[in-house]
Amino acid sequence: MAQKEFKTESKRILDLMINSIYTHKEIFLRELISNASDAIDKYYFTNEGHVDSNELGIRIDLNKEDRTITISDTGIGMNEQDLDDNLGTIAQSGSLAFKEELEKQEKNDEDIDIIGQFGVGFYSAFMVAKEITVTSKKDGFDACQWTSDGVNGYEINPGQRDTHGTTIVLSLKEDTDQDDYSQYLETYKIKDLIKKYSDYIRYPIHMLVETTKMKEGTEDSENPEYETIQEDQVLNSMVPLWKRNKSQITQEEYNQFYKDHFYDYSDPFRTIHFNVEGNVSFNALLYIPSRVPQGFYNADYKRGLQLYCRGVFIMDHTEELLPDYLRFVKGLVDSQDLSLNISRELLQHDHQLKVIAGRIEKKILSELTNMLTKERDQYEIFWNNFGINLKFGCYNNYGRDKDKLQDLLLFHSSNENKLVTLNEYVQRMKEDQKDIYYVSGTDLELMDKLPVVQTLKSKGYEVLYLTENVDEFVMQSLMNYREKGFKNAAQGDLDLDSDEEKEALNKTSEENKELLDFMKESLPEVSEVRLSSRLIDDPVCLSAGEGVSFEMERVFNNMPDNPMPIKAERILEINPNHPIFEKLKSLYETDKDKVKEVADVLYSQACLIEGFAISDPISYSRKICELLVK
Ligand code: ADP
Ligand code: MG
Repeated sequence: MAQKEFKTESKRILDLMINSIYTHKEIFLRELISNASDAIDKYYFTNEGHVDSNELGIRIDLNKEDRTITISDTGIGMNEQDLDDNLGTIAQSGSLAFKEELEKQEKNDEDIDIIGQFGVGFYSAFMVAKEITVTSKKDGFDACQWTSDGVNGYEINPGQRDTHGTTIVLSLKEDTDQDDYSQYLETYKIKDLIKKYSDYIRYPIHMLVETTKMKEGTEDSENPEYETIQEDQVLNSMVPLWKRNKSQITQEEYNQFYKDHFYDYSDPFRTIHFNVEGNVSFNALLYIPSRVPQGFYNADYKRGLQLYCRGVFIMDHTEELLPDYLRFVKGLVDSQDLSLNISRELLQHDHQLKVIAGRIEKKILSELTNMLTKERDQYEIFWNNFGINLKFGCYNNYGRDKDKLQDLLLFHSSNENKLVTLNEYVQRMKEDQKDIYYVSGTDLELMDKLPVVQTLKSKGYEVLYLTENVDEFVMQSLMNYREKGFKNAAQGDLDLDSDEEKEALNKTSEENKELLDFMKESLPEVSEVRLSSRLIDDPVCLSAGEGVSFEMERVFNNMPDNPMPIKAERILEINPNHPIFEKLKSLYETDKDKVKEVADVLYSQACLIEGFAISDPISYSRKICELLVK
């Protein structure tokens, strides 16, 4: 068959690999073994487990004379098309991420130390091999052979192999001053590498190893004779990582496992590995990613953990093992108490599985609580990535989980320029303070300047700044925290004044009732014009009635197919201590038309402060100018 070219970007990566000065070339073995193991998994699954597990395995052969390493597996194998698709293009997740990172790095002109971070896969073998031959056979197809020197392209020809599986022969490069490729022909080196990178692989990795043994029959004699024999050894312990003793696993190993199994090329943010013994026993290895996974907010994002029974992989994305609000957690669960032929349909009703899910939820929440109390900085990083999920958790399912989650929530606050917990807020509440105050908005700086916030701050109250759509719903769902209610500071009666102050305000309101009613009549959108106890320096503000808040109005009306627009009740509040009020009073005696104009301008200003668009900005601007000129 004629030679085929590699696809362009594959070429670039190959180029990089081959010419790399990268010192961790040894990872090629890990990659090939991991592919072999994947291929055996696939064989196992396509045959629905009806296979003789004795025939499943991987073999490594070293040949010093020919300078070759051969890695064969009894996996699913590849036919001609597969070879062309899989080994001719780089389109796999790991490789793709690698490529993206590469492009970023090129811009930064940084070192190419990224190779080790990725599952760069099959191509990494070209770091040590000058030529690679892959002979493969898939059940139902003839064997094929793929050959390439990694530079000029590849060829696919008929091959020789009788049973399913793949054999990969690497012809090693010649040693150079910098690179000792011959080391990979040494048994001890291969043994080390397998222990280091592939010990947990679930299928046996065989190799013929030369050992010296006493000759049979001479064991008991005074001068035992020795002979060198070739012995078949299994190099890996086959104990999966999660079954190993925690104290003997390095973070490095945890990280590598994560990257190999959960489609991420960054190290995880947190690793949670635990063991439960009891009515239901299981091992769990869980990870919190260090960034929001790709497609996380898409409808088709698949959450859930991998499920294993007695070390055998059963299914991916087992949603039943994780509550929705922890959908960002990745990882796996292995239990000996589940039936091997459990199906997706049965999962929901499986009592054991429910117990496991409950324990997992508890464990993760306690880890988060720990992080919050002991490593606040870390928790805030976590919060910025995934906090919104916990907020949704408070609100979803009619607030079923809110008690578990309320202490994990963080909010911006007027107190300091940092995130606070509800507990911190309540701890420093003023003695006479009944409610937890909040305002909603999008811009923290603007929220900080809101008239009502200024007033509350000046009276020594702290205000939470809610910046996300879900926030007010969280407050509604929580209803209260430690017996303190939640109060939207831009809504209803704040009840801040002393009895005397209230009386004085009532009196002034009574005296000016006609003026206030007159203003209301001239402003059709406004349900009431009243004197405010919310304001200190500012002339006006807008507040909402007790029902719908402005934020709710915004959120609802921004929903794509909202059938029923809702509107918050708009109340215009005027500062009785501001000169504008005196002006209004005197105008009311002399020029009622002018009062209407001023009322209109004041209302527009209040709307702007609240972040609403005003209905007629042109006439607003004209009126302002008129007032300025006069
Ligand atoms: P990845 O393993 O991330 O998919 P690789 O570059 O390591 O990427 O491998 C590319 C593809 O080649 C694999 O997805 C698989 O389909 C195929 N492949 C590689 N090695 C084998 C093998 N030993 N047996 C069967 N298929 C293989
Ligand atoms: Mg691979």
